Amino acid sequence: MQWRVLPSLQPEKMKDLRVLLLGAGTLGCGVARALMGWGCRRMTFVDAGKVSYSNPVRQSLFTHRDAAEGRKKATAAREAVEAILPDAEVADVVLDIPMPGHPHQSADVLRGNLAKLQELIDAHDVVCMLTDSRESRWVPSLLVAAQQKEKESPPLGLTVALGFDSFLVSRQTYKSALAACYFCNDVTAPADSLAFRTLDQQCTVTRPGISGLASSVAVELLAALTQHEAGFAAPSWTGLENLYSSPLGGVPHQVRGYAAEYTLSPVETEPFSRCICCSPQVLQRYADEGMSFLEKVIADSSILEDVSCVCHHNTENHTNRNDAGTTCDKENMQDSFTASLIVTTKVSRDSKVALRKLSLRLPSGYRQQRVQIILLCSEG
Ligand SMILES: [Zn+2]
Repeated sequence: MQWRVLPSLQPEKMKDLRVLLLGAGTLGCGVARALMGWGCRRMTFVDAGKVSYSNPVRQSLFTHRDAAEGRKKATAAREAVEAILPDAEVADVVLDIPMPGHPHQSADVLRGNLAKLQELIDAHDVVCMLTDSRESRWVPSLLVAAQQKEKESPPLGLTVALGFDSFLVSRQTYKSALAACYFCNDVTAPADSLAFRTLDQQCTVTRPGISGLASSVAVELLAALTQHEAGFAAPSWTGLENLYSSPLGGVPHQVRGYAAEYTLSPVETEPFSRCICCSPQVLQRYADEGMSFLEKVIADSSILEDVSCVCHHNTENHTNRNDAGTTCDKENMQDSFTASLIVTTKVSRDSKVALRKLSLRLPSGYRQQRVQIILLCSEG
């Protein structure tokens, strides 16, 4: 098929993708809808939850009856897609994604779930991380990162995350094309963010339009990547001169959206050398110990701070050699933050508000400094 408006478009590249949707909630439904719009018909829903009465108004694949019958989200989502697109190849997997700091699964169940998650990631071209907690993205982000040097055609890791009136769409390193993962801005290990929280704190409370915007941007970015001559390894779009790097336009590493300002900010990123998920130290430890390393992290996520060396960021003049044989010191950390910051400002200098928001995930010690640098860059 050829589109007269864009003859160079190759829609079959979207149609043939095998997409793994980790999370069948608001984002999972939204991404699946947008994928179907592009003709994509091979997808797998992964979720352990049931449809609740509050879900159908925002989660576009569910009905009130699904909630009344207590149906599993993954199954109800699969059947909804099949009802819309009868020739779709859709699967559903009811799986509790293991999370750092959540040692609630028995050893056997945990091993089974980790093995199943690995099997699913191996069988798909794109892994969409669409869950509603930070820590549930760590295992899949790591498993995707670990395959980038091993496989001829590893999966692409694509994360979508929501705030109240903002969102993030982010693609991580693909083979030799480096980009930050979802955890590259973090300086503490992911932990249990759900215990002792009220229901609205456990679920991401957002303006209703945010999930649709985020899901659409994620799928449009994926579509643009499939059309790029370098595919998922496409370098980030960082300026107007590269706007048409693919027939569908730019392919930034990240897109940050702000509803209050009606703004989308494309961002170029680079991996953080002490990342708690994708740094060489963490990947090496996983390569050495395999699933037993993941089991240790799930039991006690704080070990990630030692393995990655990120734990030393608050220690004055501290130097430490970790098990992977790398040296950490505060000065290098600071340089890394600054370098990452400058890359960020190259594409976002027109929005001081957006840049301030980018800095908010930094620890207080760095936050003030980074905001000052950001403003300096944005004015310069
Ligand atoms: Zn990372």
